[in-house]
Amino acid sequence: MTQAGSPDDPAIDEGALVADLLDLLRVPSMGGTPAEAEVQDLLAGRWLAEGLEVERWDIDLAALQADPHFPGMEVARTSAVGVTATLAGDGTGPVLLLNGHTDVVPPGDLGAWTGDPFVPRRIEVEGRDSIVARGAADMKAGVAAMWAAVRAVQQAGVPLRGSVVLAPVSGEEDGGLGTFALLRHGVRADMCVITEPSELDIVPANGGALTFRLTVRGQAAHASMRTTGVSTIEKFYPVLQALQALEDLRNAEVDPLMHRWPLAYPLSIGTIHAGDWASTVPDLLVAEGRLGVALGESVDDARAALEAAVADACASDGWLATHPVEVTWWGGQFASGRTPAEAAVVGAVSAAHATVTGRVPAVYGGPYGSDLRLLAGIGGIPTVQFGPGGVRAAHAPDEWVPVDEVVTCARTLVRLILDVCG
Ligand SMILES: [Zn+2]
Repeated sequence: MTQAGSPDDPAIDEGALVADLLDLLRVPSMGGTPAEAEVQDLLAGRWLAEGLEVERWDIDLAALQADPHFPGMEVARTSAVGVTATLAGDGTGPVLLLNGHTDVVPPGDLGAWTGDPFVPRRIEVEGRDSIVARGAADMKAGVAAMWAAVRAVQQAGVPLRGSVVLAPVSGEEDGGLGTFALLRHGVRADMCVITEPSELDIVPANGGALTFRLTVRGQAAHASMRTTGVSTIEKFYPVLQALQALEDLRNAEVDPLMHRWPLAYPLSIGTIHAGDWASTVPDLLVAEGRLGVALGESVDDARAALEAAVADACASDGWLATHPVEVTWWGGQFASGRTPAEAAVVGAVSAAHATVTGRVPAVYGGPYGSDLRLLAGIGGIPTVQFGPGGVRAAHAPDEWVPVDEVVTCARTLVRLILDVCG
């Protein structure tokens, strides 16, 4: 393989790709920390130096939050940075958008890691040469792959009709403000690939996810006089059972795109806080969770289903009938999203990958929310997810991505750029 490649066959520089990925992983860009902007600025600076047309702007968070379509935010932020980098064609071809988030979730229990989450290591995982760090799969490997693909095309001197736009974003993990800002900034495209981890299969649809809070009010009493109080922990129990029954009902029949998942639309309680003293009957319980939204289901319908289940549970309890549980929707509000199977982007990514590897990727829906619903919904841009690494590695300790998948992703993206924009 030649180093720079020819215009017909631009080659991926594997060494540069891995070095770039390690640079990205060393920035602990957890949502809501200053490092979130730092990694965006790192990319803007590097892409400017590499000769791309870079636009970098400070996102007006207050204006965005006032927008009725604002997708939500779960961590405190006072600023965020938008970045695009364009490899421009002659203007006669389509615009291909390559989108990827640069924020990562916190590492969780450090004791579950075998090393520092923000000191990337190249080791074998499951018998494969891999990179391990927080954000390796979700999704700095995908960002590094799109970067390597554009560089390969640029360095090979391929004449393009259409343009390729790299769009790294912040705030995906807690709602999607970065991609929302991108669309409000006026970025448009004819098709989009989000290089979220899909093990190089094609994900043209996502279930949604709505964050909710349940507030249960009881009556405090000294524990020695327990029966004179009303324990919110006991009162929460029938509500939890009602939610479990609702989850069963909502998963009884699901779209065929979701058949590969044991549970397509999970309804999960993530936190419960109740009481403030061991020998006091707890008079307040706050539980927070996440409701899966079905493909084709509106956010309003999904919310109404949960609210009705909670109301029914309350109606059949003497105390809760007069002290009903409050439901509030806050934080990330991910609608489900879908790009039609016949959209050009689905066939184009599939064909590019088959050309590069000889394997036709599977096509299925993801059970998690992503920026796909913003790009396809608000932006009207046919979008698929296609990227290296697996969802099972995401948000987990010792998060990992196999190096060969990152390189293959980059090679597929090169082929896609030539097919779509060449
Ligand atoms: Zn992700």
